Amino acid sequence: MTKISMITPLVEMDGDEMTRIIWKMIKDELLLPFIDLKTEYYDLGLEYRNETDDKVTVDAAEAIKKYGVGVKCATITPNAARVKEYNLKEMWKSPNGTIRAILDGTVFRSPIIVDSIKPFVRTWEKPITIARHAYGDVYKSVEIKAEGKGTAELVFTSEDGKVTKEVIHTFKGPGVLQGMHNTNESIESFARACFNYALDRKEDLWFASKDTISKKYDHTFKDIFEEIYEAEYKAKFEETGIEYFYTLIDDAVARVMKSEGGFIWACKNYDGDVMSDMVATAFGSLAMMTSVLLSPEGYYEYEAAHGTVQRHYYNHLKGQQTSTNSMATLYAWTGALRKRGELDNIPELISFADKLEEASIKTIEEGVMTKDLASLSSIENIKTVNTEEFIKEVRARLEAML
Ligand code: NAP
Ligand code: MG
Repeated sequence: MTKISMITPLVEMDGDEMTRIIWKMIKDELLLPFIDLKTEYYDLGLEYRNETDDKVTVDAAEAIKKYGVGVKCATITPNAARVKEYNLKEMWKSPNGTIRAILDGTVFRSPIIVDSIKPFVRTWEKPITIARHAYGDVYKSVEIKAEGKGTAELVFTSEDGKVTKEVIHTFKGPGVLQGMHNTNESIESFARACFNYALDRKEDLWFASKDTISKKYDHTFKDIFEEIYEAEYKAKFEETGIEYFYTLIDDAVARVMKSEGGFIWACKNYDGDVMSDMVATAFGSLAMMTSVLLSPEGYYEYEAAHGTVQRHYYNHLKGQQTSTNSMATLYAWTGALRKRGELDNIPELISFADKLEEASIKTIEEGVMTKDLASLSSIENIKTVNTEEFIKEVRARLEAML
């Protein structure tokens, strides 16, 4: 069999612990035998990040800007324990945070759906993708504990010295207050990323806020989405046959629960934080959640939504068997390969990505799955497999399809 050739390299970002092991298995078993894989490799494993003073993370993000598409393995975000464990020079920042800051992107998370694992919400048949605005609001707020009687004010001083003031509250006793912000620039880039991704996926886009109560703050989000939609996306949406739909956040939550899925739900920062955990849990498992970062310039970075599965890795190091689910990492690869195929016009690469996904779904639907899914599945004769066996089972089905 001749291998599929590529034109532009993918930016490959290796990572840590159990996902680093899965990364190699996926490449060796499911990609390299079939594709003349072209990647530019960046080792974001914690040891090498430390060795390069984290420069490798910045280089990887710059490479995504150069080539357009990246695929990333889960990585450790160091905390005090990791600084000790890896003898780090510094408590390096989250690589995802660093990359997101450089690409200025929006993260979209979608579940991988298989027949034998039913979402907790009966009506959900298709994935619900959550887009979380990852800037500002309560995550960049300042807070004060009012100690007793006094007046809290909101003050804005413009560059030319003009002062705008609002009384927040006149305290008669102790209380709390908070000041938060967002910028039109960030909201605009979030809106564009959402509209672009909806066109990419050919799915409706929902957005919600509390504009009836927050007549300036949330209303600005609503207005910016509306203006950008009318000016730049309405015609393209109509041509594609998809819709942009705005409603109040509480109405959106009610509608989501009664929907059949199959749309993208754009959320303000806090809503996205909370709702993405709810949606992920209701769809079954974090190990079945994929994630893509899309920048307003159209750069893509694919990864799994879960972490490095540290507990399994320590068992692996002790020589024990692991049954770690590689689906989300596999989908990061297929997502990136498909996008590369689309951008470089390589139909064989797109079709390979589709078949690899199909083969992996088929494996699970035929009852062959890792431990995490075995406990959720409604299938009768389940064959629980270890990390490596699962990948081999996918390979057998893939080969039968090619
Ligand atoms: P985690 O790696 O997501 O794993 C938490 C637990 O979820 C696991 O112990 C396991 O449960 C289950 N799980 C997650 N992925 C699984 C999979 N593919 N297959 C089977 N089970 C899976 O989170 P963590 O253990 O809290 O974090 C470990 C490291 O990952 C941390 O250093 C953190 O900084 C990093 N992290 C990285 C990213 C990223 O790069 N995007 C995201 C989150 C966390 P059981 O133990 O019950 O089997
Ligand atoms: Mg959360």
